[in-house]
Formats: sequence, C-alpha cells, structure tokens
Amino acid sequence: MKNEENNYGYMHRELERLEAEGNLRRLPRLTHEGRYVTADGRRMLNLSSNDYLGLAADTDLRSEFLDTLTPEMFVPSSSSSRLLTGNFPVYEELEAELARLYGKEAALVFNCGYHANTGILPAVADADTLILADKLIHASLIDGLKLGTARYLRYRHNDLKHLERMLHEYAPTRKRTIIVTESIFSMDGDEAPLRQLAALKQRYPGTLLYVDEAHAFGVRGQHGLGCAEEQGVTKDIDFLMGTFGKALGSEGAFVVCSRTAREYLVNRMRPFIFTTALPPVSVTWTLFVLRRLTRMEKRRKRLVALSTRVHQALHTAGMPDLSSSHILPIMVGDSADTILKAEALQRHGFYVLPVRPPTVPAGTSRLRLSLRADLTNEEMDSLIKHLQAL
Ligand SMILES: *Cc1c(COP(=O)(O)O)cnc(C)c1O
Repeated sequence: MKNEENNYGYMHRELERLEAEGNLRRLPRLTHEGRYVTADGRRMLNLSSNDYLGLAADTDLRSEFLDTLTPEMFVPSSSSSRLLTGNFPVYEELEAELARLYGKEAALVFNCGYHANTGILPAVADADTLILADKLIHASLIDGLKLGTARYLRYRHNDLKHLERMLHEYAPTRKRTIIVTESIFSMDGDEAPLRQLAALKQRYPGTLLYVDEAHAFGVRGQHGLGCAEEQGVTKDIDFLMGTFGKALGSEGAFVVCSRTAREYLVNRMRPFIFTTALPPVSVTWTLFVLRRLTRMEKRRKRLVALSTRVHQALHTAGMPDLSSSHILPIMVGDSADTILKAEALQRHGFYVLPVRPPTVPAGTSRLRLSLRADLTNEEMDSLIKHLQAL
C-alpha cells in the first residue's frame, strides 16, 4: 500500500485535479444498434460518431459484402508487416484504385490516420525542412511535428496573411517548406481555403502541401474524394491524406502522392514499417465500400441539406456558428456547463458529447455534433427544437 502511494501518488493527484476541473474522462459503456446507442439504459440517436454517410450502420451494405465472401477470402490477420509477408494483393488493389480515382501516381495505405500523420511528416521532413502548420491541426499531426527533426512554426488558423509572412521570412533559410493543414477542421467544422493555399505554394518554389481530409473524404466532392476534389486542387497537393474510419465506415488511412514519395515512405516511415498490416478482410471491405462511394451522391446531398438546415436554425436563434460543414460545435466555454448541456440533449434522445481540454483550447469547451445523412426529417426537427432551447 505504501509502495502504491509512492509510485502512483502523482497519477492520483492529477486525476483528482482533472475531476475538480470537470475534465476527467471515462470510457462510456455503450451498446450499439445501427444508428442508435444505449447508455445508462437510455437509447439515443448517435450524433457523436463519424459515420457521416451512415455506411457503418448500413446492414444492407454489410449483407451485400458478406455475400461476396468465402472462408478463403475472410483473412482475419495479415500476421506480418507489409515489408515481410503481410502484403496481400488486396492492399495493392486498394492503392491502385485510390491513385486512379485521384488521378495521382501512387497511393499508400496505413493502419490508421494516427499512424499516417505521426509517420509521414517525420519521414519526409529532415533538419533542412521547415514545416508551417495551421494552429488548429489535429493532435496526430502535432505529434508528427514533435517526432521529427524539422523546425516547425504554427500560423494562425486559416490566416493566409500570417502564413505568407512566415513563408517570406523563413522559407529562404531552409531547403524546403511543407505547409500542413486539415481540409475540414475536426473540432470547428470550418474549412481551409485550399485553392489559395495551392496558389501560395506556387509562389514559393520548394514548398510542398500536406492536407488531412479525414472529415471530408467520402463527404465532399462529386465522387466523395474530399475538399480538394470539390475545389479542383487535387493535383496541387503533394500529400493528400484521408481516413477510412469516418465516412467510409471501415478503418485505416491512405495518402495519395508521387511514386517517389510512396517509395520513400515504404523505406523510411516507421509506423508503416514496424507494424502488422491491417487484416486483409478489413481492406477488402474498404475496397468494396470505396467502389460504391463514388456513386453515393444522394447521401452526400442529403448531408448537405441537413447541415444547411441546422446552420440556418442556429443563425435564427442567434447562436454562434463558425462551421460550414456537417460538424457542428456549439460553443459553451465552461467544462461543467458543457457536460450539463450534453446531458440535456441526451435526455431528449440525442447522443451528443462534450468536448473539453485538452482536445480543445482551455475555456472553449463545447458540444460537438456530427450530422449523418440517415437522419429523418422528424429527427432533424426535434434536434433543432432542442438545440434552440439549450
Ligand atoms: C480522426 C482523425 C485522424 C486519425 O485517424 P484515425 O484513422 O482515427 O487514426 C487524423 N486526422 C484527423 C483530422 C482526424 O479527425
């Protein structure tokens, strides 16, 4: 007991501090049933997942997939890194399909977006590289900055003037510069001006552009390829990264890039090299959904229509709304207050969660809703009514 106190006392005190601040996290006990989750005996519509098109909850799609599987095709483990014996043909089929869809030379698949973002930047950015990153990039990208040897600076969120000042001042001192941004930002739901970023890159030779499309892949663009497709700048992006765990309803991540960059990553990217490759059956599912995703315009349009309605309702109610997407932060500020408001929505059958520091900056605790294309009009009306009453 004495030992326990000595060794774990600091953890205990830190946990108490988090609890006092309203920032202690616990793993929620949930059961799932398609679009619904049940927690504490209450069944609620899940507005906190990233299943934006409702594909992960679509049992018809699953049945169709299961009909294509034989026990030989159901390979539950790759049992190895791809560089040893884990490189099943379905990986390369998926990569060829991604490269073709984006009109790029090559693609590379990873176990998850966290691996992609913590692996690509440290691999490609050496001590002669400068990284200029948006202030609000995802934690996985921040970890990628910290793991590498490159110098990095953060520009104010979506502030192109600030970015250009940095490019002007610091880029000439380094051999190359990499601009890093998300397309739809995960916590604020707003968008990066990709077209202007591409133009800026052209003005500063030796600059590469890295874009994380985790929240836009599947959702934006005519074929669901993301904001770069929507804004017509896919060819200007050197590392276009997306994930399969959100709109696509699977798991894993990818980058589309040049053939040289792909080969370099295969040789230098540690979270690619030193990990067991995704289960082939999971990659088969990803490819199955991807082949249908390009034609899911109806679901994408539905999501846009629902998002537009909620944005309008928030404006009408005079509530602050900076988002321009299906991700809706409802700013509260205080963490304890945010928890109470989340509970109020949960009582009305909407599973909405509070987002608190350290995920977001101190004092900007918020509710975060992810809209989903499979919401009915009645559910939408009820949600709007309860949001306006918060
Ligand atoms: C979810 C997310 C990731 C991480 O992807 P995983 O596949 O869940 O590891 C990376 N970047 C952004 C912006 C994300 O929202």
